[in-house]
Amino acid sequence: MTEPSRASAALVYSDELSRHVLSPNHPMRPVRLRYMHELMRASGVLDSPSLLQVEPRPASREEILRYHDADYVDAVRVIGAGGIVPNMYEFGIGPGDNPPRKGIYDSTALTAGGTLVATELVQSGAVPVAFAPAGGVHHHAMSNRASGFGVFNDAAIAIRGLADSGLRVAYVDIDCHHGDGVQAAFYGTDRVLTISLHEGGQWLFPGSGFVEETGEGAGEGYSVNVPLAPYTQDELWLRTFDQLVPPLVRSFKPDVLFVQLGIDTHFKDPLTHLQLTTQGFTAAVTRLLALGAECGRTVAVGGGGYDMGAVARAWTMAMAEMTGFALPEQVPPDYDLVQGLTTFADVPGPPPLPDDTAGEVEQYADQTVAAVKKAVFGRFGL
Ligand SMILES: [Zn+2]
Repeated sequence: MTEPSRASAALVYSDELSRHVLSPNHPMRPVRLRYMHELMRASGVLDSPSLLQVEPRPASREEILRYHDADYVDAVRVIGAGGIVPNMYEFGIGPGDNPPRKGIYDSTALTAGGTLVATELVQSGAVPVAFAPAGGVHHHAMSNRASGFGVFNDAAIAIRGLADSGLRVAYVDIDCHHGDGVQAAFYGTDRVLTISLHEGGQWLFPGSGFVEETGEGAGEGYSVNVPLAPYTQDELWLRTFDQLVPPLVRSFKPDVLFVQLGIDTHFKDPLTHLQLTTQGFTAAVTRLLALGAECGRTVAVGGGGYDMGAVARAWTMAMAEMTGFALPEQVPPDYDLVQGLTTFADVPGPPPLPDDTAGEVEQYADQTVAAVKKAVFGRFGL
């Protein structure tokens, strides 16, 4: 027996994860992770005695091949080394969301490796909760192509490893976009339950994530999609979550809860239309951590998030929840990497919706809840 660790949570991070640039003016700015980390430092979260800080390592080619096709992985390696791949468009790489760039292989392999380190820390019992904030944003990447800023799908790679070692995994994705790549990876299996709450595909990339996508074969009923309407705010989002996620996860009885904590649901996010606040997001994290505590193992990754202030605050608040650290209300005044931040919570939040809009948004959420219950609850004896 080894001594039990004092740490209640781990953070897998290195500034190396924040240094690359996808292209000039690209909305996905890895520097957001450094902004986050410096806010964690300034606010005292990093000094928490219950926090274990761990460096990432690059995922090996063999690990990446758990999910991705060899010819795709080879193409990314060639592009990353500055070489030319004539059919790169077939692999989803080109000007736009997934630009070719030198270093693309190394930075993405390091991100995937960070998620693997977090997963190993939880799997070994070193900590009950581990957070790899660089991960998760690759949740659109498919086995044979890049998609939506995603190159190597770290969540799919890590979950495949857990599933291959005989563990049951529940994946809950609260990013504003449908977690289509992770869903696709486990669409045919009943060993991994995927649940994605997101803005509906008729309004937002990637155009999928409808309730009817419930899995296939042995996986029928194990893919759960919870689309929400633009302008959905905290209270309605959380009410929807509460009606679906806890009963499904508890009935599935996972060995590991794997959560994707995208914060592009934020009302100031420039790419999306849900209207959550950092306190609404944190309330979701609290609920997820409570669910994860029931199985004793929670792996958390980051995700989308294109408003720099929202990212820095929300993931600092998430890390504080994981370590039981009491954050101050105010963002420390000497923190100046993101301008204009005053409090961790959004005060004020978004303005209340006009009555007719609020009614439509609520009706959409209620229809989604009813449809999800009809589509999959029976499978879980609910
Ligand atoms: Zn997203």
